Amino acid sequence: MATATASASSLIGSTSVQLGRIRVLKQGILQPSPKPGPVVYWMFRDQRLRDNWALIHAVDQANRLNVPVAVAFNLFDQFLGAKARQLGFMLRGLQQLHSEIEEKLRIPFFLFQGEAIDTIPSFVKECGASLLVTDFSPLRQVRGWKEEIVKRVPDSVSIHEVDAHNIVPMWMTSDRLEGYARTIRPKINNLLPDYLIEFPPLKPQTKIWGAGNRSIDWEELIENETRKGADVPEVEWCEPGEIAALEHLKAFTKTRLMNYATDRNNPMKRNAISGLSPYLHFGQISAQRCALEARKFHKVYPQAVDKFLDELIVWRELADNFCYYETHYDSFLGASDWGRVTLMDHAFDKREHIYTMEQLEKAQTADPLWNASQLEMVHHGKMHGYMRMYWAKRILEWTSSPQEAVETAVYLNDKYHIDGRDPNGYAGIMWSICGVHDNDFQERPVYGKIRSMTYGGCRRKFDVDGYIAYVKKLVRDVKKRKGETCLIAHRDLITRNTRVL
Ligand SMILES: Cc1cc2nc3c(=O)[nH]c(=O)nc-3n(C[C@H](O)[C@H](O)[C@H](O)COP(=O)(O)OP(=O)(O)OC[C@H]3O[C@@H](n4cnc5c(N)ncnc54)[C@H](O)[C@@H]3O)c2cc1C
Repeated sequence: MATATASASSLIGSTSVQLGRIRVLKQGILQPSPKPGPVVYWMFRDQRLRDNWALIHAVDQANRLNVPVAVAFNLFDQFLGAKARQLGFMLRGLQQLHSEIEEKLRIPFFLFQGEAIDTIPSFVKECGASLLVTDFSPLRQVRGWKEEIVKRVPDSVSIHEVDAHNIVPMWMTSDRLEGYARTIRPKINNLLPDYLIEFPPLKPQTKIWGAGNRSIDWEELIENETRKGADVPEVEWCEPGEIAALEHLKAFTKTRLMNYATDRNNPMKRNAISGLSPYLHFGQISAQRCALEARKFHKVYPQAVDKFLDELIVWRELADNFCYYETHYDSFLGASDWGRVTLMDHAFDKREHIYTMEQLEKAQTADPLWNASQLEMVHHGKMHGYMRMYWAKRILEWTSSPQEAVETAVYLNDKYHIDGRDPNGYAGIMWSICGVHDNDFQERPVYGKIRSMTYGGCRRKFDVDGYIAYVKKLVRDVKKRKGETCLIAHRDLITRNTRVL
């Protein structure tokens, strides 16, 4: 697909979005008709109405053309194996977005079910749109759909892609695969003053969309969708939606950010990490908003803020760079050059244990620390960041090949993590197992020169027994709540049936 960063001439009038943030995926052929069609924003990754450059661009363009604008969302039958945990969080966030965007901005929200390559072009045709705006994701499936959509919309339709996820647009930062955080950091930092800016406010639309059935029975939809993936249930601790996301950010900057530099790598100190990853993954909050808010505290705790911004911006945007420029971002084939060589050199080293997928999934290994981290992920839906590294590295030790290790880690990570199926996850797994974005270390069996992490090392770093006890309690509490919910549902059912009788 031929893409070009937007030039002023490829846009309709000027826009309040920096041109570097917009790529023209398709330039529509000008039509003789003097009346342009509406603008449609196909929302995929950035599921919010606030601080969303893709929505801002769609609204800008609609206002300049004097046409209405709508948001379209496609709910896939199946996307990367999403379960009730991820689907419930996403749909509840969208439910809130639906009512807010129609009420506050007078922008209609359309929900389609099926394949985006069918639903989006057919909606574009049906409403006679002149411009389709979409947000950016580096994942191969999403890029494939866009290529197909470009072919399927009428010649008159232009398509613009806006990077509303990264603070510095992925394609502006670098045109190649970056090997390390240290190589991408200066590139990002050079452009940050241009892109880390306040968002312009959005006003309610005056050009109103015509008729069309937009009513959605959210309760029924959520019930049906979450029933499909009920083996990985929703979590209660993380309230979905952009309002909750902003409150979460506020609480973090006021009460935990100050501890970020010192305590973020201690799984027993929960008073440091942000817990923002579910919101960032589903685009319910903008990373740019998080950075702007965190920066306000720079004078008070400079080290903590610098460290947080480095993770939030450099490491997160490095993950997008990796998934965009490395085709094999979720496979051993995507290993760093030196990582591939050293892992192959040690491919036939004797493993102390080989566990089946079932044993790993059920946390039945000989390592109580690993089992605890696995259970934290399965039941709580979010493993502490430090444990994620240990967790993935030990899988390398317990599977018969590095390829199997990557596949196993991706499968479990994406199935159970509420923030799974994310470039951060693929880059994190490849960092842990294949040395991506990392240096080589002293050679050891199985790992070769890949950095290893050991139980003993963890013991020296934090209270391992405390962490295991903490997870045990967490699992007990989740199971107890589940039991109570089942009991209430059972009681309700009996009451309903008695009434019918
Ligand atoms: C094996 C492995 C698997 C991972 N799987 C995922 C995943 O599925 N989804 C996911 O979002 N992250 C994943 N990560 C990255 C990181 O561990 C999580 O983003 C972090 O733990 C989320 O918790 P938090 O928001 O409280 O983090 P905080 O420490 O508060 O960080 C704030 C934000 O910065 C970003 N960030 C932090 N650490 C990293 C990192 N190492 N790489 C990239 N971005 C980072 C995230 O967007 C995060 O939400 C994984 C890391 C590893 C090693």
